[in-house]
Amino acid sequence: MQRLNRRDFLRRAGGLAGLGLVSCRDIVGPEDSPGVLTPAVRPLRVVVIGAGMSGLAAAYELVRAGHDVTVLEARNRVGGRVLTLRSPFAPGHSAEAGAARIPPDHDLALGYARHFGLELDPLYPDGGLYLQVRSGDIAFVPAPSFLSERPAYVKIRGGSDRLPAAFRAALGERVVLGSPVTDIAAGTPVRITSLDGRTRESDRTLVTVPVPLLSRIRFSPALSAAKTEAMGGGFRYQSATRVFVRFRTRFWEDEGLNGWGTTDWPEELWHPTWDLPGPEGILLTYVRGTRADELDVLDETARVDRVLSHWERFLPGASSHVASGTSHSWQRDSWSRAAWAEPTPAQDRELAGELAMPEGPIHFAGEHISGARGWMNGAIESGLRAAAEIHSG
Ligand SMILES: Cc1cc2nc3c(=O)[nH]c(=O)nc-3n(C[C@H](O)[C@H](O)[C@H](O)COP(=O)(O)OP(=O)(O)OC[C@H]3O[C@@H](n4cnc5c(N)ncnc54)[C@H](O)[C@@H]3O)c2cc1C
Repeated sequence: MQRLNRRDFLRRAGGLAGLGLVSCRDIVGPEDSPGVLTPAVRPLRVVVIGAGMSGLAAAYELVRAGHDVTVLEARNRVGGRVLTLRSPFAPGHSAEAGAARIPPDHDLALGYARHFGLELDPLYPDGGLYLQVRSGDIAFVPAPSFLSERPAYVKIRGGSDRLPAAFRAALGERVVLGSPVTDIAAGTPVRITSLDGRTRESDRTLVTVPVPLLSRIRFSPALSAAKTEAMGGGFRYQSATRVFVRFRTRFWEDEGLNGWGTTDWPEELWHPTWDLPGPEGILLTYVRGTRADELDVLDETARVDRVLSHWERFLPGASSHVASGTSHSWQRDSWSRAAWAEPTPAQDRELAGELAMPEGPIHFAGEHISGARGWMNGAIESGLRAAAEIHSG
């Protein structure tokens, strides 16, 4: 995940695009949400494509400012790359397929969680031993030492999907699920057509779909050369896959392990049920890049088996405690096609600012055009930037 200071990104994007982009801090008022806008002088009809964190945050603030907003979402759920799995797990247990941790300086993600009254818990346990496998050597690291090298991440109690669900509840019927957009004709008005053939009209349209999916929408007129290059594969994305195993018992606790760690596969090993009642527990592997690609070619059962046979090296006997398993590949997810944007320095320099540029009445947002790619905070930041653009006329 690339980190870029948000102000720097906005300044750069604004400079490249010749736009007067409004920094999120400039639109924060004394009110109760981080992205609040002033009341609209001239209410606009706005269609937002995509109900991920960027689209939801933008829609929420535009509605509160008095605009007439419709959100069209391809999937039958909101949240996009925020996805909490609740099956095939024990009742009350869940695990994150996408966004899970919030660093302490992610003011927008934390701000909206607080705004909606969601409770936050530490991501990592502060007791037990963390597993560390480096160059084949297995070590058990006491929690204080493991945690001293990491930010004090928090998670949303009950699941990350409570945040997009809170936006959804506030937006109500304005969010239309199961409605993939196929065509956008920029004009006065903009005409947006969904797969079911229905066409809606708007004054402004906000497109928040990930770059690898932009080419599935017919834009007329065609998008700029830079956007066309990016959506043709010229803007690199990272792969990430998670495999989840439901265990009948938390057998690892017999050895003093807390179920978390890192290994030289490479992978992150997580125990998302550490603070929930047992006796069952979930362990998951979080792999990226070539390891994710390697798992992706396997079917579900083979993915789980592959991970279990790998875990036997440091969790001997794990396979004998398995109840079931599942996985999520973001590359195979037809409404994501990848995990998050990770452009090369040249792509970042030449295309990122261009991707954020509006084309007439069409605006763009998403984690890929933010100062915090690969994070909810970046997605929200970009949504608020686009909302401010639309709002300011
Ligand atoms: C494995 C993984 C781990 C992560 N971990 C963290 C973490 O720990 N903490 C954190 O803060 N962030 C994390 N993130 C990043 C975070 O999830 C994303 O940055 C953020 O959710 C992206 O939001 P978005 O609105 O930009 O895009 P998306 O969430 O992808 O939303 C775009 C929406 O557009 C919809 N769509 C696509 N095409 C169309 C169409 N034609 N018509 C209508 N709708 C369409 C999609 O279905 C989707 O709902 C993680 C992501 C992944 C994949």
